[in-house]
Amino acid sequence: MSGTEVEQAELAHSLLEKHWGLSASMRRLPGENHNYLAEMASGDSVVLKILTETHADPELEEAIISGLADAGLPVPRILPTTSGQNNIPAGELQGVARVQEYLPGTPWKSLESTPSRLRAIGAFMARMHAGLEGRDFAAAARTHDWDLARAHMHRDKAEFLNDPDQRRAIEYCFHLFSALALPHLADCPSGLLHGDINDENLLLDGDQIVGLLDFGDCLNGAFVQDLGLALAYALEQEDVTLETAASLVEGYDECRPLELKEQELLLPLALARLATYVTINAQRMAADPTSGMRNLHLDTAWEAINMCLAVAPAQARGILCNGCRVHASPPADPGNVASARNRHLAPSLSLSYEEPLHIISGRAQYLHAADGRPYVDLVNNVCHVGHCHPRVVDAIATQAAKLNTNTRYLHEHVSEYATRLCETMPSGLDTCFFVNSGSEANELALRLARSATGSMDVLVLDGAYHGHTANCIAMSPYKFNGPGGSGPADWVHVLPMPDAYRGPYRGEDAGDAYAIEVADQIGKACASERAIAGFFAEPILSCGGQVPLPGGYLSKAFEHVRNAGGLCIADEVQVGFGRLGDAFWGFELHDVVPDIVVLGKPIGNGHPMGAVITTRAVADAFDNGMEFFSTFGGNPVSCACGLAVLDVIRDEALQERARTLGGRFLDGLGELKERHRIVGDVRGQGLFLGIELVKDPETLEPAAHEATRLVNHMQQQGVLLSTDGPLHNVIKIKPPMVIEEGDIDMTLRLLDDALGQL
Ligand code: PMP
Repeated sequence: MSGTEVEQAELAHSLLEKHWGLSASMRRLPGENHNYLAEMASGDSVVLKILTETHADPELEEAIISGLADAGLPVPRILPTTSGQNNIPAGELQGVARVQEYLPGTPWKSLESTPSRLRAIGAFMARMHAGLEGRDFAAAARTHDWDLARAHMHRDKAEFLNDPDQRRAIEYCFHLFSALALPHLADCPSGLLHGDINDENLLLDGDQIVGLLDFGDCLNGAFVQDLGLALAYALEQEDVTLETAASLVEGYDECRPLELKEQELLLPLALARLATYVTINAQRMAADPTSGMRNLHLDTAWEAINMCLAVAPAQARGILCNGCRVHASPPADPGNVASARNRHLAPSLSLSYEEPLHIISGRAQYLHAADGRPYVDLVNNVCHVGHCHPRVVDAIATQAAKLNTNTRYLHEHVSEYATRLCETMPSGLDTCFFVNSGSEANELALRLARSATGSMDVLVLDGAYHGHTANCIAMSPYKFNGPGGSGPADWVHVLPMPDAYRGPYRGEDAGDAYAIEVADQIGKACASERAIAGFFAEPILSCGGQVPLPGGYLSKAFEHVRNAGGLCIADEVQVGFGRLGDAFWGFELHDVVPDIVVLGKPIGNGHPMGAVITTRAVADAFDNGMEFFSTFGGNPVSCACGLAVLDVIRDEALQERARTLGGRFLDGLGELKERHRIVGDVRGQGLFLGIELVKDPETLEPAAHEATRLVNHMQQQGVLLSTDGPLHNVIKIKPPMVIEEGDIDMTLRLLDDALGQL
């Protein structure tokens, strides 16, 4: 809209005169909307509204106004033009012009928000929702920039804020929204919403609501969105605390009891609204410093945000919903949980993070702590298809309720599962064993290799971890060369880690050079009359520090091993099941076919399972008369679970998702490397990535302390990462494969800030 305020007021007045036959003095009303109070000589007033929003829908507004008037709610009547039209084109003012009855009353913002007033506003909102119930306005099935259900689309605007503390606070608000509100909005009671119950759109006389204005943002959604929005405005009012704001919620609840899931959403919705306001304003100001919003209430928005973030979400919900009729049960005392653990669990177990987390539930890519804080989980590659995926949970529960036995009976699940797993493998790998963990699977792989070759020894990569059983520890340099370890057993030969970033061989030919080391090591073993049964390798080293194998390495290493009579064993426990994006199995990236493949972690999405897949010849060699039996391995419940995991990976196209989202993540990490000297290397594939931190890019001196600090800092911001690698300076990223773009982008922005501060 062009012209000065005075010119615009004149244009507004000429519209009023020409089409409504009214002469009045025009005063622009405060707020984002383009409204004029037209005061006539008679003392009567009307409001001229210019509907300028791109999503303005005058007919929808009219229908809603008449619906609410029928329900007895105080809404302004529309006054038609002298020719009987409700709306006319606004000419030079652009948009649509309409005249409405002027409702007397004092805007909420000019009144003290006492508990009784807030209670009245809450009750009024519940009446408004009830008044519109059952009315179907097809045009209300829409969205717009201020649609609270889509607040997360503003989260990347956090970068327009200059203050890092403010950026972090806003990221956290949107994170709360994405983790706590977004997944549940569709399950909440829903209907037609006002969409903008703010402190200018409610008029009061004392504690009575005498006017409800501005239906320009009406849309369908969860009722709790309106309440969350009003809560945001309540929290901005002077002297309103969470305790006082509880009156608004209580008033609503008196007329329509809030379900527990709605109660959980209130704080994230209110914060999302405040964050939306702050970020949209920051974006406008960045584009043009004179273009901030009319009626700036930034200071009060920040005060409200800071007040809410000062307490944990569960506590805030407890305060806000204290007066609700349905109550959540209080969480277990984390102090008791920790002391019982310390008393009765073995001391060699560890807890992650400086401030250990008490996690009580999980969903998709999120873990939820007892204090209500949600975390984006970027480390648990076990919950491959997302924490508590409903199809997996259902498969387990349904089968557990029906039958759970063992592989000594015929059962369709175990037959089907073995078939389905073998279908994912190259031909020849057609025989399965089922066990209960990755360690058990590697242990069995060792036995298979030994019985098939008649040899005893194994080759392993430096830094590798293959499991916690006695033999697996003996095959894990990560453990036997670490604290409490006692070095390699005589049957274990350690190959240099084929690390093209930090190891002795780098650059193009690193794969060949490291493969020659394999031949050398085999030569040394043979010289001391030791024969190789097998070579255990992960297609990307995990505990070794997210180290990809250099090109050509694995195929040449396999050749050397096979020439020496050994078998090749791919440990796919960490990287399998599509995580690497370009292939379902990691070994496929290297154009090799192993003799034995070891599966674990993601295979059951958290249900304890492991499997070994090999050739019929290797399985036959193992079949020497001694029965193989694992009590739980391959039971009907585990197989039902494993089948559901395979189904979800296929149906949700998770391998492709790992490829595209992993690419986005790695590109973003690459940009961080350009900007931050401490980032020595970023690497990996699909959703299996690593960031190696170094103090000096020339000497590669590891920045282990900084890596730990970064991980703990990110935890505080709601992002779970962890460190690994022999030098403890690699941050590993291996999230559930259902992670979303918004989580990745937020993580990159937070990392950018945090790396800048290191
Ligand atoms: N192999 C690899 C590569 C692993 O990372 C692990 C576990 N971290 C194992 C085997 C052992 O699996 P589990 O803990 O299920 O016994």
